[in-house]
Amino acid sequence: MDGRLPVEPMPRVWGGPGNGEKCDACDEKVEKSDLVVEGRTERGRVVFFHAKCFYVWEKERIVVAHERSTWEFERNKAGQPT
Ligand SMILES: [Zn+2]
Repeated sequence: MDGRLPVEPMPRVWGGPGNGEKCDACDEKVEKSDLVVEGRTERGRVVFFHAKCFYVWEKERIVVAHERSTWEFERNKAGQPT
């Protein structure tokens, strides 16, 4: 995870046979023999992943999102009047 990939949720993803798209996770071409996952983020960015890379990214994204929400929670808690 190098911070280049979106961590916001992707409301729409769909998959299909690859057609030479460049995978946003590993920068390799998605060959016709592979499955490509295409997604559009909430900010309208279109991303492509190998199906296997998508699952890796999805797992990492959830970890990052969880760390962020935990941080928000801690900050909110600290900011509350006692
Ligand atoms: Zn990939």
